[in-house]
Amino acid sequence: MNPILVFCEQRDGRLKKVGLEALGEACRLTKPLEREIIAVVIGSSVSALAQEPARHGASRVLVAEDPTLAYYSSEIYSTILTEVAIRLQPVAIVMGATAMGKDLAPKLAARLTSALIQDCVALEMDTDGSLLATRPMYGGKLHAVVKAKNPLMQIVTVRPNVFSPLEPQPASDILVERLTIAVNGTRPIARVRETHKTAGGRKELTEASIIVSGGRGLKGPEHFTLIEELAAALGAAVGASRAAVDAGWKPHSYQVGLTGKTVSPQLYIACGISGAIQHQAGMSSARTIVAINNNPNAPIFKLASYGIIGDLFEVVPLLTEEVKKLKTG
Ligand SMILES: Cc1cc2nc3c(=O)[nH]c(=O)nc-3n(C[C@H](O)[C@H](O)[C@H](O)COP(=O)(O)OP(=O)(O)OC[C@H]3O[C@@H](n4cnc5c(N)ncnc54)[C@H](O)[C@@H]3O)c2cc1C
Repeated sequence: MNPILVFCEQRDGRLKKVGLEALGEACRLTKPLEREIIAVVIGSSVSALAQEPARHGASRVLVAEDPTLAYYSSEIYSTILTEVAIRLQPVAIVMGATAMGKDLAPKLAARLTSALIQDCVALEMDTDGSLLATRPMYGGKLHAVVKAKNPLMQIVTVRPNVFSPLEPQPASDILVERLTIAVNGTRPIARVRETHKTAGGRKELTEASIIVSGGRGLKGPEHFTLIEELAAALGAAVGASRAAVDAGWKPHSYQVGLTGKTVSPQLYIACGISGAIQHQAGMSSARTIVAINNNPNAPIFKLASYGIIGDLFEVVPLLTEEVKKLKTG
């Protein structure tokens, strides 16, 4: 039976959680059919990472390791995955809907002439073995269930933090195969020589399981410290509405929403954010939403699991204090 291929993205020698989430979902999908689940890891010095997909449901791990793979290249990565896919004929190729996944998946789909379904939030297997993929559309206003016309080798990207990874199992004698294909023969048109981080160690919004965001209700950039203190107490990432970003209080990399980042944390705390439809487009799939706003009619309350009607300048420091107390126990 054709396997499912899961591309497990790594950056700086660490696997992204979404790869393990994709593996968990692939295991759930294939349980009745017992398809093989094959993980692919690509990079420089990444052999040590092979055990992690194995502990999270992969029955086989393919590793493409070469110093030239230190930086992501859509050309080389898609060449490697194309060769793997042609050899193994997977029924589906799954990867995270991350910046890398969103860049890589279309190139791979074009090379394999496969269907591509991006940013999925639910997956099911249809009776004919093809995938039924649910993806938000129109900024999250509706969810469409999409089925590829050609069910062979469908490529899907999955939204981070939506699916659950399996509980890690003890490492077994899993088959780890080193890929020598393509890497040497590929001469890319462009090569990344170095990368610079702009966020200075800041938690990545799209990966975070807790996000505290601030909006225009903060009234000035200096008050973002309130948000940062609550985020630090919770171990959360900091986000912002477009109004806060447009005002220059935070860089665009903080923006959540239609023209910012799409996030799916377990907990999203919106402070002084009205909840405009364009903001909701980026955060409505958060599992639990807490809104702090002094206007009881703010649209964010329609979406929120818990709402606090009050002045954020009073509520946020109290919350921070309570979280700190709970943590110190
Ligand atoms: C094409 C397009 C794309 C867009 N993309 C995005 C996007 O990606 N992300 C995004 O966020 N927006 C986006 N927007 C903008 C969006 O429409 C809103 O203008 C924006 O989200 C408003 O930001 P806000 O909620 O911080 O500000 P406001 O709408 O001004 O809301 C501020 C809120 O703070 C509350 N408040 C004020 N003082 C306090 C206080 N002391 N305590 C508690 N609450 C208080 C107010 O009651 C109010 O609800 C986009 C718009 C367009 C047209």
